[in-house]
Amino acid sequence: MLHVLVALLIGSAAAAEGLPARAADWAAVVQPSAGPARSIGTTNLGCLAGGVALPADGPGWQAVRVSRNRHWGHPTTLALVEHVAARAREAGLPDLWIGDIAQPRGGPMPWGHASHQSGLDVDIWLDLRPKPRLPVAQREDLDIPSLVQPEGEEVDPARWSARHATLIRIAAEAPGVDRVLVNPAIKRRLCRDHGGEAWLRRVRPWRGHDSHMHVRLRCPAGNPDCRDIAPPPEGDGCDSTLAWWFTAEARRPPTSTARPTAPPAMPAACTAVLASPSR
Ligand SMILES: [Zn+2]
Repeated sequence: MLHVLVALLIGSAAAAEGLPARAADWAAVVQPSAGPARSIGTTNLGCLAGGVALPADGPGWQAVRVSRNRHWGHPTTLALVEHVAARAREAGLPDLWIGDIAQPRGGPMPWGHASHQSGLDVDIWLDLRPKPRLPVAQREDLDIPSLVQPEGEEVDPARWSARHATLIRIAAEAPGVDRVLVNPAIKRRLCRDHGGEAWLRRVRPWRGHDSHMHVRLRCPAGNPDCRDIAPPPEGDGCDSTLAWWFTAEARRPPTSTARPTAPPAMPAACTAVLASPSR
């Protein structure tokens, strides 16, 4: 009987759907909701209650493009930034430029990202040139060069260095990290230099990501509405899954002629987050 009841409860929770994921609604809210921080749903379809802003400056980091108002995250994500920046400093690396985390209440964005919805994703730029401490206003329009050659096959040897691998490794080994997304050419280089090492499992290839890495955290404890995606498969990922990215199939631009579909429904808990008072 108990099993039936539990199954029914889980079933009804899974079926509970909120409003359609309309990015404009979420982008229009400029303050976080009141109450404790909670990540809800997945990083691709979710939201953030009680978001906390990353300070524009901290030990070892500078937030960039602050005017976008996308530096809100779960406190675990802010702790991740602190951890990675501190470890990078210990390794002798310069300040890190921190890009988008999430909107004040997370949710879908009108442009720029498909994920970053639940406050558990953060973009960290792979720019290890020495940096002065810039005023916030001068961090809006930075020109950050690609680490990958134009053909997309290999990293650019004039820009890539072992220090980039050090930074990616620090992120991949940070507590609570689910995966780190980098360009396939970067992953290929890491496989050549570090193949077989355990941390490479969490470094996954993705389009773009040639001048920044995308760090995604697993759901923190005490966030019952948060949903993880499947963890990366076992192994270092230096296999056919990586080779696929260099095939003609992977490089063909998407040719979908499908008509745009209706936006998916957000988790029901996000409807309340969108409507609740600001902090
Ligand atoms: Zn990202």
